[in-house]
Amino acid sequence: MQTTTQLNLSPDRAIALFQAEARHYELPSEETKTGLKVISPYGEILVARETSGVRLTLSSSDRAKLYVLQETIDHALGEIGEAESLCWSSSLAGARPPSMTLATVVSCQRISPSYFRVRLSDPDLERFSRDGLHFRLLFGPQDRPGEWPSILESGRTDWPGGTAAWHRPVYTVRMIDPLAGTLDFDVFVHEGGRVSHWCETVRSGDEVGLMGPGGGWLPERSWLGLYGDETALPAIARMLAASAPDTTGVAVIVISHANDVQVLGHPEGVSVKWLLRGRDAPLIDELKALQLPEDQQRFIWFAGEKREVEAARKHLATLGLRKSEWQAAAYWVR
Ligand SMILES: Cc1cc2nc3c(=O)[nH]c(=O)nc-3n(C[C@H](O)[C@H](O)[C@H](O)COP(=O)(O)OP(=O)(O)OC[C@H]3O[C@@H](n4cnc5c(N)ncnc54)[C@H](O)[C@@H]3O)c2cc1C
Repeated sequence: MQTTTQLNLSPDRAIALFQAEARHYELPSEETKTGLKVISPYGEILVARETSGVRLTLSSSDRAKLYVLQETIDHALGEIGEAESLCWSSSLAGARPPSMTLATVVSCQRISPSYFRVRLSDPDLERFSRDGLHFRLLFGPQDRPGEWPSILESGRTDWPGGTAAWHRPVYTVRMIDPLAGTLDFDVFVHEGGRVSHWCETVRSGDEVGLMGPGGGWLPERSWLGLYGDETALPAIARMLAASAPDTTGVAVIVISHANDVQVLGHPEGVSVKWLLRGRDAPLIDELKALQLPEDQQRFIWFAGEKREVEAARKHLATLGLRKSEWQAAAYWVR
């Protein structure tokens, strides 16, 4: 599956831009006879010099992935004011973006003092069980209820009321039941949270928009060091549940309330430690206290508030690990 567009940039600038993005996201890239090829988890990006300028061609095995790739590029070019002239060749005008699902709320229940569990249903949800652990919830402008994004003649997405008017927080797929066509996600309740408020008011039968899947995937390693705060609990739960039975390691999770502890399925060789916010030492101290194993198949994962993640990155950079051995992701900003 392919889509293509002309770019309103000089070939040298376009190639330099995509080379820099590939380096930033650590994506493999190679120079070709006509320009540059970048391989992403969603598909291939070709930047080609032409007599009339530069052409961008995206290829993917899947329509939804192709669209995620296109949206990512659209967003990146938008940041430098170069997205308006894009005109993608895919002929989906009028349709909903293929990476979007309009699901129905089945239930939203308080499962512990700080979490709601939301269950959604839709036959299309099965695709959220692969290619990425996360998705975006879509909340449109309040004065345009029931209006959802659609594809314009240019192949770009029309966000009713403008992109900036949409709140698109990221959540983690906690569980998928492919037979029932349901997806569960857990919402950490925090002050001022739009999603926390939504959980208090949503009713079964309400429609909700989702975009994805996207983000990281399950680390397949023999030793795991997983460190996360309340918002990362669902991702750690999913990683532990999917780990091979002989995996060893540690999982350290911060909770806000002693009764937020969940029974997590995990390999016997992985110890799970719960830290109570305000009582126990901060997560970063646990990471700093880690005795790094010599295991060649080790992987450290850290997620939480942006500043804590920056501190974790700084510390991890001092350990002499290969880049493929760790990941630190900001899940929210204070
Ligand atoms: C890859 C990824 C996966 C994620 N998965 C999950 C998940 O499964 N479950 C989950 O609950 N969250 C998850 N998050 C975090 C979630 O996206 C953010 O917390 C988001 O800001 C929540 O949106 P909101 O509409 O509730 O709040 P916003 O409208 O974004 O923010 C409102 C206010 O709340 C503050 N705020 C945001 N998060 C927190 C917090 N955790 N504690 C205290 N204050 C906060 C903000 O600083 C702001 O002042 C994930 C984030 C990422 C990047």
